[in-house]
Amino acid sequence: MTYVVIENCIKCKYMDCVEVCPVDCFYAGENMLVIHPDECIDCGVCEPECPAEAIVPDSDERAAEWLEINRTYAAQWPNITRKGEPPPDADEWNGKPGKKALFSPNPATG
Ligand code: SF4
Ligand code: SF4
Repeated sequence: MTYVVIENCIKCKYMDCVEVCPVDCFYAGENMLVIHPDECIDCGVCEPECPAEAIVPDSDERAAEWLEINRTYAAQWPNITRKGEPPPDADEWNGKPGKKALFSPNPATG
């Protein structure tokens, strides 16, 4: 079992989630975060912290298409444990449909 970051994280990146994770298993891409499925201890603490409701357990049907993306990019992107500055337009993107097309495979910089 693991929790999975899904589509609505894209371009939101509030990063409230990373501060609460007891095992520091979030990894940062250019425009979203992912959870390492083998490191997540399934505690669920991060789920209610996400203002974009972009974290779900893998038993949620919305997790299916994102689980492998979380696994793949957690192995490539840098670990993140401290909340950074969210993008200024994060609120505008919260809840917008069709954001998967905007997913960036690039790691976070800075
Ligand atoms: S709080 Fe939610 S939207 Fe923000 S980075 Fe974490 S998972 Fe993504
Ligand atoms: S469920 Fe717990 S261990 Fe897994 S990512 Fe969230 S806070 Fe971290």
